[in-house]
Amino acid sequence: MKLYNTLTRQTEEFVPHEAGKVGMYTCGPTVYNFAHIGNLRTYLMEDVLEKYLRYAGYEVKRVMNITDIGHLSDDADSGEDKMLLGAKREHKSVLELAKFYTDAFFADCEKLNIKRPDVVQPATGCVEEFIRVISELEKKGFAYKAGGNVYFDTSKVRQYHVFFNFKEDDLEEGVREGVDKDENKRNKNDFVLWFTKSKFEDQALKWDSPWGVGYPGWHIECSCIAMKNLGEYVDIHCGGIDNVFPHHTNEIAQSEAYLGHPWCKYWFHVLHLNTSGGKMSKSSGGFLTLSKLQEEGRSPMEYRFFCLLSHYRKSLVYSEDTFENAANAYRKLKSRALAVPAEGEIDAAAFKQYKERFCEAMDADLNTSSAITVLYDVLKAKELNGATKRALVSDFDRVLSLDLLKEEEKAAPAAGLSDAEIEEKIAARAAAKKAKNYAEADRIRAELAQQGIVLTDTPSGTTFARK
Ligand SMILES: [Zn+2]
Repeated sequence: MKLYNTLTRQTEEFVPHEAGKVGMYTCGPTVYNFAHIGNLRTYLMEDVLEKYLRYAGYEVKRVMNITDIGHLSDDADSGEDKMLLGAKREHKSVLELAKFYTDAFFADCEKLNIKRPDVVQPATGCVEEFIRVISELEKKGFAYKAGGNVYFDTSKVRQYHVFFNFKEDDLEEGVREGVDKDENKRNKNDFVLWFTKSKFEDQALKWDSPWGVGYPGWHIECSCIAMKNLGEYVDIHCGGIDNVFPHHTNEIAQSEAYLGHPWCKYWFHVLHLNTSGGKMSKSSGGFLTLSKLQEEGRSPMEYRFFCLLSHYRKSLVYSEDTFENAANAYRKLKSRALAVPAEGEIDAAAFKQYKERFCEAMDADLNTSSAITVLYDVLKAKELNGATKRALVSDFDRVLSLDLLKEEEKAAPAAGLSDAEIEEKIAARAAAKKAKNYAEADRIRAELAQQGIVLTDTPSGTTFARK
């Protein structure tokens, strides 16, 4: 299998450290708010990678952290703690907040058929490990104390900017506008390994440490949790592209300083989900969650299909139209798959031939849209009988996880609107659309969706189905 490696900026043959086994690490969510669908795109594509590795015969162990402490509002260790801000906003304790949003995150993952990683480790459960590793870094001369905090000394590593050939001066030390410079730092890219109470008096969760009562920095979490569960070598480290700097750069610096050898060979980064207004982010306010999509009558499987149609290394633009097209295509694809009769014997030679084409697509740096083309070809193929088609769809769906052969649960007949009443609503929605009153059109769609009535726009008009 060939994978693009952000570290070498090349597509490379994937060769794990130990034959047949893959240690995979995923940066998990900071649980201070709902995940937006852009965050979920990253987890979804990582899920496809994990499932394809298993499908290809590897034994995979996947580890994910949950950041419930130490992630400041700026990735470069400045500002307030995101968890603390969230707790204040929602009048919850930090732990209540973490539990609530961890559950919400995994509920979203389940709806999207994203498999739960083998190990899920909240940072608050690993503080002893952080202290042990930081002490070791201090002993080896990679850490120093200043102003009550412990910093990682980036001047001590041979090469700090491993991802790109940045000149030091090109980078504004990862400090965003409006954030004060940290005067304690010896070098501008140094980052905090351990904060003490001297800096954040109101931090809710604190632990005793050799450097005083305090809490760990965000970056050290991932290194320690990965090493604790996967040993000294990680095969694939995943994350969103915005984690490349400073987060992953810092992870590599401290892990390799601690281990004394290269740590992780392949870096897999998923690009952003953009809206017409730019990158979807929590700080910009109005972000789309999976629940909001569902309220609008969209299904999680439609979103999964929408993501799989694009390559993970391309920015994906979300708009009503692009989503609607994908959603319609998904519903048609699924009904075509379900309509295939289970007749005849599986043709082993034909099965193998199509499976090879599917693997060829996935082996080419996880080309999911080509893999879906193979799926369409299977459904179209005149030479394949029903049994072979169904077997192939079911086989590919082990990776794609689109529930293509899963019958929808039939809801009890709606006691609500009659067909004529629904048609009336559809006419009102069409009129609203024509008058460019999209808010009203969306409201009508959502109102019907709440009653289990799903609309599909086709070139010849809108049809409806009761779920
Ligand atoms: Zn991380």
